[in-house]
Formats: sequence, structure tokens, C-alpha cells
Amino acid sequence: MVSAVRSVRARLTAWYVIVTAVFLAAFGIGMYTILLRGLERSMDRSLILTAEAFAHAVDHESNDDGGAAGGDRLIAEEASEFMYADRVIMIFRADGSAVALPHAPRSAAFRMPVETLRMLILRKRPSAPAFMTADGGSDDEVRVLVFPLRVRGRDYVMAVGRRTSDQMEFLEGLHAALLIGVPLWVACAGFLGYSLVRKALHPVVTMSAEAAAISTADLARRIPVSRPDDELAHLAITFNALLDRLTAVLDQQRRFMADASHELRTPLAIVRGEAEVALSRTDRSTEDLREALSVIEQESLVLSSIIDDLFLLARADAGQKVISPTRFYLDELVGDAVRSLRSVASKKSIRLQATLHRDSEIEADESLILRLVMNVVENAIKYTPHRGAVEVVLRENGPLYEIIVTDTGVGIPEEKRALIFERFHRERGDSTVEGAGLGLSIARTIAEMHGGGIDLEASKPGGSTFRITLPRHQ
Ligand code: ADP
Repeated sequence: MVSAVRSVRARLTAWYVIVTAVFLAAFGIGMYTILLRGLERSMDRSLILTAEAFAHAVDHESNDDGGAAGGDRLIAEEASEFMYADRVIMIFRADGSAVALPHAPRSAAFRMPVETLRMLILRKRPSAPAFMTADGGSDDEVRVLVFPLRVRGRDYVMAVGRRTSDQMEFLEGLHAALLIGVPLWVACAGFLGYSLVRKALHPVVTMSAEAAAISTADLARRIPVSRPDDELAHLAITFNALLDRLTAVLDQQRRFMADASHELRTPLAIVRGEAEVALSRTDRSTEDLREALSVIEQESLVLSSIIDDLFLLARADAGQKVISPTRFYLDELVGDAVRSLRSVASKKSIRLQATLHRDSEIEADESLILRLVMNVVENAIKYTPHRGAVEVVLRENGPLYEIIVTDTGVGIPEEKRALIFERFHRERGDSTVEGAGLGLSIARTIAEMHGGGIDLEASKPGGSTFRITLPRHQ
């Protein structure tokens, strides 16, 4: 259990770490990409603004001086005024020769790709602004805006360049921060997750330790329920309820074992006593010995009947297939049972009557059904005083056969009615009447095995009525 809890802890923490890592990685990559694009856009915008400002200044100057100076001079003059710490402006004529050479301050230590630009101008004659990225020397890159210009009727091409290393440095810093920060964050999340899961599962560990401490000898112990309205308390309550049910079943089993051994002990003691007495003297007459053997036989029959009953109940409890069905007429079987009990009834001058619906065909286990009917009718005779009456009726009722056994016996007290079908249940006052207290529980087991049932329909001091039901068609 503890290792299971540990593995749940490990799995939950692993999930937490994986989810956090994926989320942070996605966040880092997303943030990096957005920043990269934003920096690129702002760089391009700054180049456009510089180019437009220069074009505007040249245009303005050209209008002011009334056409005195040539385009080259105008441009060269303006270029000398447009000096930036991080940008370089170059102007080329349409034939690729340079008008204004780069005024690169010392701080802007990068090379403009002059030859590349010249080739571009000669080959493509750019007519619209365009961007390019080129090598700027000393491991630097230059972003260059190529911008067409027309001054005094002549075509020029302006190139505004700016090195990208500043942005790149910022991005590299961010990259490094993410590379260190994300795993660190993930590690913290893992530690925090593990602590949280540990704390959350702590009551489960305690509960399992308490459950493990409950032994079969100490089934009365229960898991304490601290807060009655949370999920773990619900688990504890469910577990305790399961323990209640187990305890009840175990108690019932123990009672059953005790009762079974008690019931077996009496006939065994008689058998042993008879045998001991018979063997203790050598001068016993044949008649005495026969009598002893007859008692032993009687008690052996009682013993084997109890053992048969116990065996049937045990097999039914184990869910084994006990019935072997055949087709027969239920009215004939009930008639036979009643006939075989007539002599017992007549010994007590009990009127035993049967009203049987004819041709009641059924598919069932004949010997078990006979046992069921015999048990109930025998009881009716057993618990009915002299000169009473027992009536057995077999009738059809929809999909069922009903066997109603009514007697004019002692009746069953209200509070005992639910108990009579329990194994080994006997009324205290019944000790004068033979029986182990298994008859009705066997009857119920057999009826239920066939999909039917048995109930005490009515009972009062003047008599009882039992109702057996069996399905007409299986
Ligand atoms: P037993 O071997 O004692 O007859 P059963 O399981 O057949 O065991 O019956 C359980 C108890 O139910 C009996 O001890 C008796 O108290 C009661 N009982 C059963 N049938 C009748 C009946 N027809 N009239 C009165 N009491 C009955």
C-alpha cells in the first residue's frame, strides 16, 4: 500500500513537472518569437523613418535653393548632416557609383555591404523600398533598407544600414535567462508539487496504516473519520461500512460453525456412549447389542442428514451448480410426500389433507423439491398438537406454482418470524421437538436455487401458513 502511495506520488509529481515544463517551454518559445518579430519590425520602421526624413530634407533643400546646386551636391550636403551613432546612410547613383559615402561614427563599427548594394542597383534597379540583411564584418549583421530617391530629375538609391547586434544581444540575454530560468522553475515546481501531493496523500497513508492494523481478531476497530464531509472521510466511511458487513458475515459464519459442531456433538456422543457401553462388557446378550446398534444406526441417520444439509448449504453458498433438473409432475411429487408423512401424522391423530392441481408439469430437481416439500410439511406436523389438521394445497398462480401448507399448530411469535429461515435457528421451547434448525433454511435455499421462494404467510397461536412458490417454466 505504501509503495502504491509512493508511486501515485511519483506519478502525480511527474505529471505536474511535465505539464509545467511543456507550459513554460511553450511560453518561452512564444515570448522569444514575439520579441524577435517585434524587434525586427521596430528596426525596419526606424530605417524607414530615417530614409523618409532624409528624402524629405533633400526635397526641402532642393526647393529652397531654386535649382542652383546639382543633385549630387545637394545629397552630399544633406548626408553630411544625417549622422547617427548606430546608423549609416549611403547614396548611390543609378550606375552604382557612390555619391555620399558612409559617415560611420567610430561607435558604429560595422561595414556597409557596398559591393553587394552596387550589384543590386546595377542588376535590379530598385523602384520600391526593400530590406536586406547582410554581413557587417566582426561577427555582425547589418539590416539595410534600399530606398529609391529622385533628386533634380535624376535617380538615386539610398541605403540606410543599421547593425542588428544590439537586438541580438538582448535576445541572447533573454535566451540565456530562459535556458536557466525554465529548468529552475520546473525543478521548483517539481519540489512544490511533490510536497503538495505528499501532504494531500498523507491522510491516505495514515488510513492505510490504520486499515492494516485491523486484524480478523480485532474486527471491531474502525478507521477514525476526522472531517466527515471530504472525499477521504467518505472513503473511510465506505471502508468502515464494508468492515461492518464483513464482521456481520464473519459472526454469522462463526455462529454457524459453533451451531454445526453443537448439533453434530449430541448424536456423536450418543453413538460413542452406546458403543462404549456395548464394548465394556463381554457378557452382553445379542438383544442388548442389537438395541445398541439400532440406536447407533438411528443417530448415524441423524448425523448424515445434518451433514447432507450442511453440504447442500455449503455448495449453494459457494455458487456451485447443485440442481440437476428433470421434467416431472409436481402434483404427483407433493402427493407422494403427503402420503409418506401420513403415518407420522396419524401417530398424532393429525388430519393431513392435500388438494393438488392436476398435471402440474415442472422442470426442476426432483429430489431437492421433494426435500423442500417434506421439510415444510414435516414442520407443520411437528409443530401441530394432537388432533390438529394440516392442509397442503398446490395451485397455479400466473407464472408460478404455489404450494400452501397450513397447520393448526403453535404458531410463530411475531418477533421470531424473520429468524426462522436462518440456519440453526430454533425456538427455545422446541427442544422437545426433534430437529437441527436447518429445515427451513434448506427449504429456502432449494426454492431460491429454482428461482422461487418460501415465506411465512400468516401465523398466530392457532396455526401457521407457509407459501412456497416455484416458476412453472424455467
Ligand atoms: P427445525 O429443525 O427446528 O424444525 P426449521 O428450520 O425447520 O428447524 O424451523 C426453524 C424453526 O421455525 C423451528 O424451530 C420452529 O420454531 C419454527 N417453525 C417452523 N415451522 C413451524 C410451524 N409450522 N409452526 C410453528 N413453528 C414452526
